[in-house]
Amino acid sequence: MVTDELADELRRALERFAIETGFDERRQVSVFFKPGVFGHHQLGRAADIYAVGGVGIDQWKRRWDEACGRAARTASGAARQIITKTEPVTNLGWRLYKALQRYGRWSQPYGYPIQLFGPWTRSEGPWKHISDRLLRAHLDHIHVAK
Ligand SMILES: [Zn+2]
Repeated sequence: MVTDELADELRRALERFAIETGFDERRQVSVFFKPGVFGHHQLGRAADIYAVGGVGIDQWKRRWDEACGRAARTASGAARQIITKTEPVTNLGWRLYKALQRYGRWSQPYGYPIQLFGPWTRSEGPWKHISDRLLRAHLDHIHVAK
């Protein structure tokens, strides 16, 4: 369904993600892809990830936002620290996004931003100036293209 080049890039980044998050052959983690339709997808050069660890990317993002909200509202510094230190470890959606950002070399067509979009793009990059329209289109999945 995708080019060898994209498959290799995904394999490398996903392996790093699995190692960092403590998964291996005996303790596996699922990553759920759905075929996309537009642009790079027509050429097999893009992939959309909708879930990791059996939980939707949109749910991981909701959990992330709730944790940020709790941290912002709590008066106790210690409680806030627990939240802000725990969520980046346990939130597999965010960790997958960061692993793809750190370890993947995604395409950047001339005049366009790096082809990694998801619900965390505005806060984490690589293209923080993502439009509202493009962000809304990627609230429930992560898009990468090579
Ligand atoms: Zn896509």
